[in-house]
Amino acid sequence: MSQSAPAVPVVKISPRGATRLKSGHVWVYRSDITSADAIPPGSLVAVSDQRGKTLGTALYSSSSQIAIRMLSHDPVSDLPALLRQRIANAIAYRKPLVRDTDACRLIFSEADFLPGLIVDRYNDILSLQILTQAMDANPIREIVISELTQQTNPVALVERVDPRVRELETLPPRASGLLQGTKTSTVFAMNRVQFQFAALEGQKTGAFLDQRENYAAASQYAHGDALDVFCYQGGFALHLAQGCSQVTGVDSSRPALEVADQNAALNKQFLGDREIEWIEANAFDLLKDYAASGNHYDTIVLDPPAFAKTKRDLEAAMRGYKELNLRALKMLRPGGILVTCSCSYHVSQPHFLEMLASAAIDAHRTLRLVEVRGQAKDHPVLLNVPETSYLKCVVGYVS
Ligand code: SAH
Repeated sequence: MSQSAPAVPVVKISPRGATRLKSGHVWVYRSDITSADAIPPGSLVAVSDQRGKTLGTALYSSSSQIAIRMLSHDPVSDLPALLRQRIANAIAYRKPLVRDTDACRLIFSEADFLPGLIVDRYNDILSLQILTQAMDANPIREIVISELTQQTNPVALVERVDPRVRELETLPPRASGLLQGTKTSTVFAMNRVQFQFAALEGQKTGAFLDQRENYAAASQYAHGDALDVFCYQGGFALHLAQGCSQVTGVDSSRPALEVADQNAALNKQFLGDREIEWIEANAFDLLKDYAASGNHYDTIVLDPPAFAKTKRDLEAAMRGYKELNLRALKMLRPGGILVTCSCSYHVSQPHFLEMLASAAIDAHRTLRLVEVRGQAKDHPVLLNVPETSYLKCVVGYVS
C-alpha cells in the first residue's frame, strides 16, 4: 500500500543520469540535472527522468558537483524515521562483524545509505563528520545526534569539520568541537594494541580505522627487522612489534610521531624493554639513502597517503607507488614480507597489482601474493557504488 508522501520538489535528470541510477549508483552529477528550479540547498527531492517517471527520493545539494545523493527508490514520507532506522541498521550491521576493538566506523555515508554522514567510535567518544548541505540542516543534526546517543550512549560526541568541504557545499564556516559531553580524549584498542585518541587536536585526528584488520594480518607474517614507512601514529609499527625483533617507523610529520611514541608507551606490557625507533623523514629520500647504504629488512610496510586524489594525478601517482615498492623490494631479505597499501580510489586493485608486478621485475625479485586485502568490514563496500571501495593492502612474500 502506498502511503501518500508530502509534496517534495522534483529534480529532473538526463537519460545518462537515469542510466547511472538504474545501474545501482546513488549519485547524479550536476551536469546530468536538467531542471532543479529554485530548490533550496539540502532539500529532500523527488528525482524523475525526462518523461516524468519518478526514480526515487534523494538529498539535493545546490553547489556540489554531486547534486543528487539517492536515499530511496520510494517516496519518503517520514525522513526523521528513515534516518533513525538507517542509523540503527548501520550499528546493527557492525555488531557481528567488528571484533577485537572498541573503535570502528559506525556510519560510512553512502555505504550505510546515509549519504553525507560519517561517524567513528573511539571507545567512549563518537566523532561525527558532516559532508553535505542536507546532513548539516539543524533538524537533521538533532535526529542524528539523538539516535546516536540512544543507540551507543557515548560519554562525548565531537564534530570534526573539514573547512574545504563546507566551502564546497557553500555552508557557513563552523569550528570543530564538542556537541555533547566534555571529554575530548580517550584510549582505544585495536587487536589488543592501545592507542591515544585526542578528538580535537591536529589536522587529522583519530586512527586509520580502515586498516584495523590489515594490522592484524600484517602482524601474523611480520618477523625480524621491520620498517613501517608512512607510520603516522604507529598503527602498523605497534602491531609489527609483537613479532619482530626490531621496528622502525618513518613519517614526515613530527606531531604524528610524538603520538606514535606515546602509543608505544601505552603498550609497555608487550613491548617490554624494546623500543620502537621513530624517524622523522621524507620517505622517498630515506628509502633512497637506506637502499644506497645497503640496509636490509625482513618486513616492510608501505602505507602512503593517497597519491592520486583525482584521475589527473594517476600517472604521477603510479610512478610514486612504483618507486616506493621498487626500493622496498630491493631492501627485503629473501623470505621477507612486503605489506603495501594504496588508499587512492582512482588506483584500481588490478592496476595496483600490475604496478607491483612491474616493480618486482625491475627489482629482480619474485613476489608471491600471500593476501590481497581491502578496507576493514566497518567500512563496507557497496558493490554498485565503486567509490566506496578504495583501500588496497597486499601482503607479499619476497624471494
Ligand atoms: N600507516 C598509517 C597511516 C598512514 S597515513 C596508519 O596505519 O595509521 C599517511 C602518512 O604519511 C601520514 O602520517 C603523513 O604524515 C605521512 N607522509 C606523507 N607524505 C610523506 C612523505 N613524503 N614522507 C614520509 N611521510 C609522509
